[in-house]
Amino acid sequence: MDHSDLLQFEPAPAADGALPYYAAQAQEVALFTHAFQQRLPVLIKGPTGCGKTRFVEHMAARLGRPLVTVSCHDDLCAADLVGRHLIAPTGTVWTDGPLTRAARTGAICYLDEVVEARKDTTVILHPLADDRRVLPIERTGEQLAAAPGFMLVVSYNPGYQNLLKSLKPSTRQRFVALNFGYPDAAVEQAIVEREAGVPAAVAQQLVALAGALRRLTEQDLEETASTRLLVMAGRLHASGIGLHAACRAAIVDALTDDADTAAALDEVVGAVVAPAA
Ligand code: ADP
Repeated sequence: MDHSDLLQFEPAPAADGALPYYAAQAQEVALFTHAFQQRLPVLIKGPTGCGKTRFVEHMAARLGRPLVTVSCHDDLCAADLVGRHLIAPTGTVWTDGPLTRAARTGAICYLDEVVEARKDTTVILHPLADDRRVLPIERTGEQLAAAPGFMLVVSYNPGYQNLLKSLKPSTRQRFVALNFGYPDAAVEQAIVEREAGVPAAVAQQLVALAGALRRLTEQDLEETASTRLLVMAGRLHASGIGLHAACRAAIVDALTDDADTAAALDEVVGAVVAPAA
């Protein structure tokens, strides 16, 4: 099958209601589109809940490619991605894993939190991520040439990183890197309004709260208030929970188990969120 038409892709206008909603932060839509056209793999780094997954869903739909998503974890091994022989009534049959399926069918393969996966998994990405674009399937002897629409996208959260869990330079140098942060206040407010279905005034308070919590550096928090948590608090509020209680449940208690830290965060909530809300 000839996929060369895919490479002639012209970006569609941004406001297409059929696409998963994604509010852009900078040049990421253009960069991703060009990376796809140039057959370059993409690495997205950024904190949890800042829109990485939504962005990839949006881009896959925009580029008209199927999306195969794999949430990586510390037990994930190469066979989980590439495939394995399974026992069937007729004997053993080879079953493609998600990476192989994506390479064969020309899908976008998104490996979320790739640094969590076992080391042997990142090595199998190398020949797929450079000019060769092949996936050697050791068990069957197949050298699978990736279909032209195939694209490899990986993400990770640099905040989680420790020395044992970083991408090797030889791996990361194969990718175009997009650096994500939390959106600017105006963009984040638009996201919260739309995703949570709250009025602008409420979204504004939630974004102001996020700003205040993100500035808190004296608290020993592993993560801070993400856009996802703001959307969750907004949704609770939209369905009838008071705004302060919604923020306590969806943001404060989601961020910490420590009672003193929770009390300090809750004080910030009280100061930022209007008591009448
Ligand atoms: P990540 O993959 O970075 O952990 P997600 O993409 O799952 O984060 O984002 C979490 C939620 O936050 C999404 O489901 C969506 O509601 C909202 N969100 C965050 N950023 C954006 C954005 N730029 N545009 C639209 N929604 C967003």
